[in-house]
Amino acid sequence: MAEVEATNQTLLVVGGGMSGITAALEAAEAGYDVILIEKNPYLGGRVTQLYQYFPKLCPPNCGLEINFRRMKLNPRIRFFTLAEVEKISGEEGNYNVTVKLNPRFITEKCTCCGKCSDVCDTEIDNPFNFGMDKIKAVYLPHEFAFPMRYVMDPSIVGTDEAKKCKDACKYDAIDLDMKATTFDLNVGAIVWACGWTPYDASKIEYYGFGRYKNVITNMMMERLASPNGPTAGKILRPSDGKEVKNVAFIQCAGSRDQNYLPYCSGVCCLASMKQSTYLRDQYPDCNITIFFIDIRALDRLEDFYTKVKEDEKVTFIKSKIASITEDEATGDLLLEGENTNTGERIQMTFDMVVLATGMVPNSLDLESAPSVSKDEYGFMTLDPNNTGIYGAGCVKRPTDVASSVQDATGAALRAIQSVTRR
Ligand SMILES: Cc1cc2nc3c(=O)[nH]c(=O)nc-3n(C[C@H](O)[C@H](O)[C@H](O)COP(=O)(O)OP(=O)(O)OC[C@H]3O[C@@H](n4cnc5c(N)ncnc54)[C@H](O)[C@@H]3O)c2cc1C
Repeated sequence: MAEVEATNQTLLVVGGGMSGITAALEAAEAGYDVILIEKNPYLGGRVTQLYQYFPKLCPPNCGLEINFRRMKLNPRIRFFTLAEVEKISGEEGNYNVTVKLNPRFITEKCTCCGKCSDVCDTEIDNPFNFGMDKIKAVYLPHEFAFPMRYVMDPSIVGTDEAKKCKDACKYDAIDLDMKATTFDLNVGAIVWACGWTPYDASKIEYYGFGRYKNVITNMMMERLASPNGPTAGKILRPSDGKEVKNVAFIQCAGSRDQNYLPYCSGVCCLASMKQSTYLRDQYPDCNITIFFIDIRALDRLEDFYTKVKEDEKVTFIKSKIASITEDEATGDLLLEGENTNTGERIQMTFDMVVLATGMVPNSLDLESAPSVSKDEYGFMTLDPNNTGIYGAGCVKRPTDVASSVQDATGAALRAIQSVTRR
C-alpha cells in the first residue's frame, strides 16, 4: 500500500462535481492543502452531462473550465480520478483514510491522438450518454474531459483487442499491467461532496421506462440535446430516430410519493422548463405539455417560469398521470390520468415522454467509517456533536448549481475551522 503525503492540516474532499471542486478550490486558495478524490475518470460531476444551465441557458462547461484553470494553477490541490474511499477511521483533526485507485490502463503520456480507439473494434454502452449510444472500449469520456486522457474499459484487458490498441499507441501510453492499488492518507477534516444519482425510473412500473423506448428521463433529455450527445444535439425519438412534434413532461415522476421518492427534488420543474426551450429552439412547431402537481420555481427563477408560460406552444396541466401505454405499431404513447383542477379525465397521445425524475443523495454510507447524521430521506445534516466530516452540495439537499456552490464554500470553511482548532 502506497502513502500519499498529507498531514492533519490537509483537507480531503470526496466527490469531484461542482460542490467538491468548489470546496477544494476555496480551501486551497485560503492556503490549505487539499486532496480531491473522484470515482469517475473525469471531474465535473453531473454538470458535465447538462446541455445548458437554467435560467441563463448558458453552457455548463464555461463555468467548469474556469474552475479547472484555477485548479491547474494551484499546487495545493492534488486530485485523483477513478478513486474511491474504502475506509475512514479516527476523529476530527486526525483521520486515516484508505483510498482505492482503479486502473485507467492509460498513462499520463496520452496525447489524446485517438489512434488506440481507431483500431479498437469492441464497443460498449456509453455511460456518459446513459447507454443511448455505443463507444469504443478505449475512449475519451467526453470531449471536455478533465483530465483530458483516454480510459480503457476493463472488459477488454487481457484480450488481443487490448494488445492491438497498445500497439497502435506510438507514445507508449497504454499500460495493460496496471492494477487497482490503495493508498493511505492522514487528513484533518473531510468534505463529502458525492452529489446525487438519478432516481431509477424503471421502479415506476406504470410509466414503462425501460419497456417503451420513447419514455426517457430528464437526464437523458440533457444528453439528447447536447451537441456531444448520442444524436449530435438533434432531439430525435429513440425508437425510430424521427423528429418530435408533440412531447410530454411528467413532473414528480416517482417524487413526492411515499412508494418511491417521498420528497421534492426542487430543480426538476425548472429542468423541464429549460428542456422545453431546447425543443422549441429545434422545432418551432413542436407542442409541449408539462403535467405537474405544483410548480416549484423559487425566487429569481420565477421569472424563467413566467417566460416559459408565455410560450403558446407550452401547456401546463395540473394533474397526476396514472399510466402510460405504448402503441406498438407507432411507438406513440398514450397518457391517462386526471386534470386535478377540473376533475376531467386525461387521455392524450405523445411522440415522446420525459420523466422528471428526482435526485437520490450519495451520502457517506461506508461500513468502515464514522457514522454521520442524516435526515429521514438520507441527506447528510450538520451534527454539532460530530464535527470533522461535512457534507457539501446535493448530498445535503437536492438543489441547483448556484446553491451547491454556496453550500460547498461553507463546508470548506467548516473544514478549515476543524483543522485550525486542532
Ligand atoms: C435533469 C436535471 C437538470 C439540471 N439542470 C440544472 C441547471 O440547468 N442548472 C442548475 O443550476 N442545476 C441543474 N441541475 C442540478 C445540478 O445537476 C446539481 O445542482 C449539481 O449536479 C450538484 O453538484 P454536486 O457536486 O453536489 O453533485 P454531482 O454533480 O452529482 O457531483 C458529485 C461527484 O461525486 C462523485 N462521486 C459520487 N460518489 C463518489 C464516491 N463514492 N467517491 C468518489 N466520488 C464520488 C460523482 O462521480 C460526481 O463527480 C439539474 C438537475 C437535473 C436532475
